[in-house]
Amino acid sequence: MSTNEIKVGVLGATGAVGQRFVQLLEDHPWFRITAVAASERSAGKPYAEAVTWRLDTPVPEAVRTLPVALCEPGLDCDLVFSGLDSAVAGPIEAAFAAADYAVVSNSKNHRMDEDVPLLVPEVNGDHCAIIDYQRKRRGYGRGFIATNPNCSTIGLTMALKPIAEQFGLRQVAVTTLQALSGAGYPGVPSLEILDNVLPYIGEEEDKMERETLKLLGRFRDNRIEHAGIVVSAQCNRVHVQDGHMECVSVALENKTDADGLAKALRNHRGPPQELGLPFAPARPVIVRDEPDRPQPRMDRDAENGMAVTVGRIRPCPVLDMKFVVLSHNTVRGAAGTSILNAEFLRTQGYLD
Ligand code: NAP
Repeated sequence: MSTNEIKVGVLGATGAVGQRFVQLLEDHPWFRITAVAASERSAGKPYAEAVTWRLDTPVPEAVRTLPVALCEPGLDCDLVFSGLDSAVAGPIEAAFAAADYAVVSNSKNHRMDEDVPLLVPEVNGDHCAIIDYQRKRRGYGRGFIATNPNCSTIGLTMALKPIAEQFGLRQVAVTTLQALSGAGYPGVPSLEILDNVLPYIGEEEDKMERETLKLLGRFRDNRIEHAGIVVSAQCNRVHVQDGHMECVSVALENKTDADGLAKALRNHRGPPQELGLPFAPARPVIVRDEPDRPQPRMDRDAENGMAVTVGRIRPCPVLDMKFVVLSHNTVRGAAGTSILNAEFLRTQGYLD
């Protein structure tokens, strides 16, 4: 290991999100996986034996033989990425933070804690400063918890941020068409989803409506003031493997047209782009002009799955403007944003 590398562990390494972490971290220039952990079912086995690998690249050589540990502090690493089942993530993540590990999580458990940043660096990088308050309030040393939002909220807020900044947002109505991989494995039974659409995803609408307000909120005096906008979400599961699509209508403070909205989205850049972070897409938002884009199969892998694609920008006769957003739910919507968060937190001194 070079002296510049940081040892990282993956909690929930055998799960759908955990596998993405293992895949995406192969050859990462800053982070080296030195520990993998999961439940008692997997503990003690070499990773390649414990995992039912479902990605289309092989299990990385350096991780194949790592023994799967239990999710308890004592792992040989300084930072843990968490893809833990939310039924167990809350206390496990807090125990790691208290034991001086940096915890960068995908799970919902700590997202809405008032002293935990809910982070997408292109949207609200400045919220990471709440970690100082968290450490003081909870008596942590160098440990902390940072989270990323739910998969559909990440795609939505990456599109809303430049709109909120330039035109002011008042209301958002969003209808999602969410991929099957978002439900983990084995997920939705095939006989329920073949030739069908499921108009219910447990807790998803509530998460989108609440998390969006925290993300678009303002950090001031050790508090994150939630944005004063209204969000209405309707979430559907569709017969697509990867890639969440979202049909969005927005009401604005200051009116614009399709060209104005497209320009704001195209020009958006955030701290990851300015800092040239390894996982940063050159363009966080790609705007397509074709009338039939974005589509999951054609657009989910844009910029290695880290960019969101927006298309069909047009006036909305009910609110002001409407458009379609597409993002890769297990890359930008989960493990990829966590890795970008860790890269960003390193540049801000939180991994020193
Ligand atoms: P998953 O495939 O069911 O994986 C869950 C992981 O948690 C497995 O590694 C499992 O280990 C481990 N685990 C379960 N019970 C445990 C216990 N008692 N102690 C320690 N480890 C335990 O779930 P997933 O789809 O990857 O989701 C993981 C988290 O990310 C969830 O909180 C989910 O809401 C969130 N998330 C998922 C997505 C997505 O697209 N799938 C997107 C954003 C966020 P074993 O293999 O040993 O059982």
